[in-house]
Amino acid sequence: MRGPGPASPRAAVFLAMLAAAAMLNLVSCAAPKRVGGAAAPGGPAPAPGAGGPVLLRVLVAEDRPGLLVSCTGAWSLQGSSRESVALALAPGDTLLAQDIAGDVLYTCGRQRGRSPHLVLRPQDPDDWLLLDDRAWRGELSLMAKPADGVSGTGGRGLMAINMVELECYLAGVVPLEIGARRSATELAAVAAQAIVARTYAVARRQAGRDRGFDLYADDRDQVYGGVASEDSLCTAAIAATAGLVLAGAQGLAPTYYHSTCGGHTAAVAAVWPTVDDPLLRGVADRRPDGLPWCAESRYAQWREQWTWSELQSILARTLPAYLDYVRQPGRAAWANDAFRPAVGGATGRDPGALIGLSVAARTREGRVAVLEIETAAGHYRVRGDQTRRVLRPDPSSSRLLRSAWFELEVAAGRQVSAAGRGWGHGLGLCQVGALARARAGQSAAAILTHYYPGTRLVPLAGAPLP
Ligand SMILES: [Zn+2]
Repeated sequence: MRGPGPASPRAAVFLAMLAAAAMLNLVSCAAPKRVGGAAAPGGPAPAPGAGGPVLLRVLVAEDRPGLLVSCTGAWSLQGSSRESVALALAPGDTLLAQDIAGDVLYTCGRQRGRSPHLVLRPQDPDDWLLLDDRAWRGELSLMAKPADGVSGTGGRGLMAINMVELECYLAGVVPLEIGARRSATELAAVAAQAIVARTYAVARRQAGRDRGFDLYADDRDQVYGGVASEDSLCTAAIAATAGLVLAGAQGLAPTYYHSTCGGHTAAVAAVWPTVDDPLLRGVADRRPDGLPWCAESRYAQWREQWTWSELQSILARTLPAYLDYVRQPGRAAWANDAFRPAVGGATGRDPGALIGLSVAARTREGRVAVLEIETAAGHYRVRGDQTRRVLRPDPSSSRLLRSAWFELEVAAGRQVSAAGRGWGHGLGLCQVGALARARAGQSAAAILTHYYPGTRLVPLAGAPLP
């Protein structure tokens, strides 16, 4: 991607607005501090939205037998056992938490105790908690993972949940999602990313699943790295859009986003087994000269190749997993013809030898809608974004095929190649396209209206909620 360039007049105006906002004292999160002698890369995180602080619960560690926590200032520990625990801790204190039969056993100097749940809180909200040397704004909540797997992640051990204000959370998300050290000419795209990430986070909070946290800190939701990930330009873009979200007629808009669309975004019902949503319909992403706005992406074009036996061993794992996926509730539209046995009684759990594969149907823009795979066990029909999971590039990694927009070249019995375009599921905002649009002078509002047609920008406090 293009490196930093000179600021455009539009960017200069935007930066002047940001400076004015800072002078109006809109910035309320913690100021940069030093951890282990290193300066924090980000500036101050921005103020809460118009509706007041919105707290998020973000899972920042899981499946851990032990956790080490300290703080850049004075801090405290509170427990939830029958005899309520409260310890005042000094800046140099280190707390070791361990999982013991579903409780948290903590040791801090000569202090020891046990509680189902610990809350760690800096005395001054401008200080940071350090979890295994990673700095987090807000508070940390430690608990043992429920034995029944309520968290949905399986296994035992400790979970650490960061209780963090929405705008501070975004300061640790936006640089990891759109890239840090962006040029000032790309501010409109960074602002669009901030609005999209804010909308997504609030929508997840309202999903209300009772697992003890709202969001994962990785690509299961949005990648969140805390203070170390913050970046001054991203923080400024978050401040300039504080409290703004995207809404449709029914409430918050579904603001999925991805890296590179390849020239056209996808419609949601072609990607996942769900009903169509007019707010997530595919739109063209082409410049007036016909090239994709995301043409500069390193994943604008890509190629993967497998030997016949490599692909056969990948499919032995991914095809049964696909059948498990489509047979879950609500996926009947994809499950009905997912597998047709070659001989009576075969379940598809053991695909056996690969006989052939081909694209059976495509979407309007050209993504693979149905991939047909024939093995000794029978015929599999793999749909939408699941084609990326089934045709994994590497048997030893969890990496997916870059996109579902590809052509297959099959040399039966020898090798299979896929030549494709784009990276990601193709829904909603195309990040590389948005950056190019910003450099061409498009505003954040214009970028969002293009990728999410039918939505409008509203203050969070006034958003029509489901
Ligand atoms: Zn694009």
